[in-house]
Amino acid sequence: MPPLTDRLRSMSFGAGVKNGLGSSGPKEACGVFGVWGHPEAAKLTYFGLYALQHRGQESAGIVATDGRRVAEHRQMGLVPEVFNDRIVEALQGHIALGHVRYSTTGSSLLKNAQPFLVNFAGQAIALGHNGNLTNSVRLRKELEAQGSIFQTTMDSEIIVHLLVRHLKDGPGQALIEALPQAKGAFSLGLLVKDTLIGARDPHGFRPLCLGRLAEGGWVLSSETCALDLIEAQYVRDVEPGEIVLINEHGLTSLKMEPPEPHTFCIFEYIYFARPDSNIFGHNVYQVRKRMGERLAREYPDIKADLTMPFPDSGNYAGIGYGRASGLPLEMGMIRNHYVGRTFIQPSQSMRDFGVRVKLNPVREVIRDRRVVIVEDSIIRGTTSRTRVKALREAGAREVHMLVSCPPHRFPCYYGIDFSSKGELIAANYSVEEVRRFLGLDSLGYLSLEGMVAATDFERPEFCLACFNGEHPVPPEEGYSKFGLEAC
Ligand code: SF4
Repeated sequence: MPPLTDRLRSMSFGAGVKNGLGSSGPKEACGVFGVWGHPEAAKLTYFGLYALQHRGQESAGIVATDGRRVAEHRQMGLVPEVFNDRIVEALQGHIALGHVRYSTTGSSLLKNAQPFLVNFAGQAIALGHNGNLTNSVRLRKELEAQGSIFQTTMDSEIIVHLLVRHLKDGPGQALIEALPQAKGAFSLGLLVKDTLIGARDPHGFRPLCLGRLAEGGWVLSSETCALDLIEAQYVRDVEPGEIVLINEHGLTSLKMEPPEPHTFCIFEYIYFARPDSNIFGHNVYQVRKRMGERLAREYPDIKADLTMPFPDSGNYAGIGYGRASGLPLEMGMIRNHYVGRTFIQPSQSMRDFGVRVKLNPVREVIRDRRVVIVEDSIIRGTTSRTRVKALREAGAREVHMLVSCPPHRFPCYYGIDFSSKGELIAANYSVEEVRRFLGLDSLGYLSLEGMVAATDFERPEFCLACFNGEHPVPPEEGYSKFGLEAC
């Protein structure tokens, strides 16, 4: 097989592959990808962003540099909508940083697309952020009082303002000074002149890993699935509280002070991360499967004829539940993979249509059967309700549902879009009330203990705040979902 670089040269970009965006659950708030030391760094980054598309579908961007000249392209839309051959070709240089974004607040503006690029004292600085700062409102007020002028409404921009204050000491030292001031969740990719930088908050809420290209060069990625795509070898995770700097001198690792207890986001395993990724040291597919197996142990008495997931979110827990319960696993609903962003939203009178165009029941599988649905989570409940109704209309005799995590009762302040309790059905209603709202014969959630045990961590170090309300970093006074935009 020809080397990767040669194959890249003959490839075409932005070929209009539409993402089958069928997800109706919570949205992830961003993906970060960077390459240092490859002549086609931007092209590799394009592919990396493609693999991370599930982490953000509102905008995408790449900044590329050879250490002197800088080129950027950012736009609203999916990766294949944002880039084409001509655009990727113009992003020259052996260093690139890319980002896909889903804004966690209402407005979705091009100026808030990342990487955020500025020029400071003759040095280009670019930043891509995954996470959410919990003290952003106070920090921004303080910085503005000291003369900082902000270009965006993103909390991510605060990090750049903190960084430039110490940049005369070099980017590593500047980040050692700046980052401990930012509280909350941040997995960062940064470009400072000719250095690619990765950094993770001391709690390690969001994933970030390092890889190496076969032809030389380093890769930084939110998830390992993006390394596989460009044939990079996983090296290790960027550690919580670690800053890695990659330039012509190799890789340098620095540690932020003070260290904090690790609180990895367990919801990455349940919903966000791709099943072919390994995050926090464990494979997502296997964890999801074990969650399904645990459901079978916790709910052994359901009498049913078959089990089925709502694809794709419940697939992997569904496999585990099917195997452990002994029920035949069927695909009782088929997903249309070609429903993209351009799908015209139906009017109010046709509102179920929007859900059904994505998932359609197979009557011959469901009719007169007692069905156990395996679902990964219930956030607002409206989509599940429509799907259950569709199963009943297709002739299901009984519909039971098992959920592979406990009820979501508390907001997330670390970069996920259910940041107010009003959006969470389980925060406002009992399990019995949710069951009735969804139109189910029975409803069961995985226990907190079962969920944690399914991860198979020797020493579990998780954030469980959206389930138990114990937020590892409390939001500061003035924190508001509608204050600054998270990423
Ligand atoms: Fe993840 Fe929930 Fe913690 Fe947010 S609150 S970081 S979604 S576990």
